[in-house]
Amino acid sequence: MADDQTFYGSDFGALQAFDPDIAGVLLSELDRLRGGLQLIASENLSSPAVLTALGSTLSNKYAEGYPGRRYYGGCSEVDKAETIAIERAKALFDAEHANVQAHSGASANQAVYGAFMQPGDTLLAMSLPMGGHLTHGSKVSFSGKWFDAVGYGVDKDTENIDYDEVEALAKEHRPKVICAGGSAIPRLIDFERFRAIADEVGAILWVDAAHFIGLVAGKAIPSPVPYADVVTFTTHKVLRGPRSGALVCKAEHAAALDKAIFPMMQGGPQMHTIAAKAVNFKEAASPEYAQYAKDVIANSQQLAASLLELGVRPTTGGTDTHLSLLDLQGIGVTGKDAEARADAAGIVLNKNAIPFDPQKPNIASGIRVGTPSVTTQGMGTEEMKQIASLIHRAITEGDADPDHAVSKAVRAEVTDLVTRFPAYPR
Ligand SMILES: *Cc1c(COP(=O)(O)O)cnc(C)c1O
Repeated sequence: MADDQTFYGSDFGALQAFDPDIAGVLLSELDRLRGGLQLIASENLSSPAVLTALGSTLSNKYAEGYPGRRYYGGCSEVDKAETIAIERAKALFDAEHANVQAHSGASANQAVYGAFMQPGDTLLAMSLPMGGHLTHGSKVSFSGKWFDAVGYGVDKDTENIDYDEVEALAKEHRPKVICAGGSAIPRLIDFERFRAIADEVGAILWVDAAHFIGLVAGKAIPSPVPYADVVTFTTHKVLRGPRSGALVCKAEHAAALDKAIFPMMQGGPQMHTIAAKAVNFKEAASPEYAQYAKDVIANSQQLAASLLELGVRPTTGGTDTHLSLLDLQGIGVTGKDAEARADAAGIVLNKNAIPFDPQKPNIASGIRVGTPSVTTQGMGTEEMKQIASLIHRAITEGDADPDHAVSKAVRAEVTDLVTRFPAYPR
């Protein structure tokens, strides 16, 4: 058995000696992560165990195919890693089948199109400006170029998914696939209603759980798995694993989806990432992770409530999940300016279109904030109240210039906070 630690991968000393340029980037990125408040809703801080598997020799191995049926020799060890990852994913999500080879969320989504649709077929999915994702039929994505994508939106008053509209569009367009899920949906999705609509028109129900799958893993919100034909997800958002994707599905679709991932869409699987996904699924099955998932939501709800008190309105009036979408029209700041002012104050978040946004997407009237990273750092609801006030000060009184007095003052408070709750504590 190999016992030389340096052969397991991550040997930072060797990298520093050979390539100080890239070693320097790795160090300064760690400083950046530690130095600011990370509120990007789709990001998290994966564990040293996950990072170690990612930085391992499994990266070398070609393993086209699936465990026990590969196109290459020498797969005995990586077969073990992939089998463990599959079994853990099935157990974690109580699923009949799992495929852990997707390189990313977008690749997992491609497999759904590959398995169930032919070019020209109709998809019904949430439109991008209403909270959907590029891969759900946007004209700039393969999904909108090759398929006839019909978009649904949210109700003007509630800002929640308009299920009656989904049903009417489904009956009118008879889509092959109906997609539920998106990138800026703060509320729970009614999977049962989606299932009923899909059954009514004979469509496949696909849930893109990229954002919220971690909350499902932690049993903090209801699971789409009992309702959906297929659930695709990323592993690096709330779930807190490596940057990658995966899917779980009903047994009847297993062969079609496996073939769509490989050989239709991808080549050799990234075995180091698959090993890291296995580690992540083990972490996510723990009681500590279940508590984490609940804390993420409690923090998110506190952050939204505190921002509302300050006059920054969360769309839909609040959140059930790790993210909220904030309408800045009431305080007269654009999403673009808010992002730049927050950044100057050490707060990392993103501008985001809100439903029925009068601004262009690159300006936007909103920002999106999420609590996965700050919760990983151990912050709680008291800190969320403070963060709300820091965001508010930075975007209403601050400036995009980091030397502005308010930007500086807020940054000093951010530094104090992240020193008490460090990312990757030493
Ligand atoms: C993040 C996201 C994806 C894409 O994931 P990548 O890993 O960036 O390809 C797909 N769908 C939704 C809803 C997402 O939020």
